[in-house]
Amino acid sequence: MQKVYDVVIIGAGPAGLAAGLYASRAKLKTLILEKGKVGGQIVTTNEVANYPGSIADATGPSLIARMVEQAEEFGAEKKIDSIVDVDFTGKIKVVKGEKEEYHAKSVIIATGAQPRKIGCSGEVELTGKGVSYCATCDADFFTDLEVFVIGGGDSAVEEAMYLTKFARKVTIVHRRDELRAAKSIQEKAFKNDKMEFMWDTTIEEIKGDGIIESVVFKNTKTGELIEYEAHEDDGTFGIFPFIGFLPISEIFDGKIKLENGYIPTDDNMNTDVDGVFAAGDIRVKSLRQVITAAADGAIAAVTAEKYIEHNFGE
Ligand code: NAP
Repeated sequence: MQKVYDVVIIGAGPAGLAAGLYASRAKLKTLILEKGKVGGQIVTTNEVANYPGSIADATGPSLIARMVEQAEEFGAEKKIDSIVDVDFTGKIKVVKGEKEEYHAKSVIIATGAQPRKIGCSGEVELTGKGVSYCATCDADFFTDLEVFVIGGGDSAVEEAMYLTKFARKVTIVHRRDELRAAKSIQEKAFKNDKMEFMWDTTIEEIKGDGIIESVVFKNTKTGELIEYEAHEDDGTFGIFPFIGFLPISEIFDGKIKLENGYIPTDDNMNTDVDGVFAAGDIRVKSLRQVITAAADGAIAAVTAEKYIEHNFGE
């Protein structure tokens, strides 16, 4: 007989892990699915200063490790599988992974979002060869080298500050002449001696043979192109784009209502499909943070519990 979970949670970031914790504590048979690395975007950040209870040395990875441990302690099962399709038409929902097919009375979608790409030539080819979307993961490779951080939001400025602990110089490249980041974050950045700013600038092309060797910048006001080459002694430098995020929702297209790729829900995390709930950054919402993701996850699990009770008489 096929195994039917009470709740299958797609995604193991703060939303999925909080949902897993609440669902398993409610004694629901819970499975958390993750395609790659557990933790979502928060593991790509070093400092988690705005989650209540986070202390100075709390990092994204350490916070996630505790969340995983806690969910598993209450019995949530965790599997690594990449979900390729879903069938939400029946009372029992089907979630198809590359490895296995999963059946559940309810599904919580917590797939989150992924970094937006610059879209310039050379970006894809040189990812992992100088282009990185994770300062926490890759900062060490750029010890004493130069680094360019692209973007002017909170992520760009915070990650740039983190990179100054490793790199010789960190230049924020922003398409306007004013940062979007919170004033408190900006103030710290302007005071940092290792930090420089290139205003009104975008990237046209990243060049290199197996490793970044040069980058072509474009002045957004004058249209002027400037090629910057790696310092002779360095041979290379880093480029870290932090220009926002895109929802991870392609597999749900046509299966559930989407708005610009994000999933609209009501306050109880109900989507437009009965028995399917959404939590975290994948939702249409105004504040995408660890705290709001975790809260969504808790609410989604409690709503799922009530849904199961009502529809499966348990
Ligand atoms: P964001 O706030 O959307 O900022 C994206 C930045 O990238 C903006 O400066 C934008 O420029 C720039 N940009 C967008 N598309 C671009 C392109 N194609 N080429 C060049 N530049 C481009 O994204 P985020 O910084 O990742 O933050 C996302 C959310 O998380 C925000 O709500 C933020 O407040 C929150 N967050 C909070 C914290 C914190 O509270 N400590 C830390 C990190 C993130 P423009 O300014 O010209 O639009």
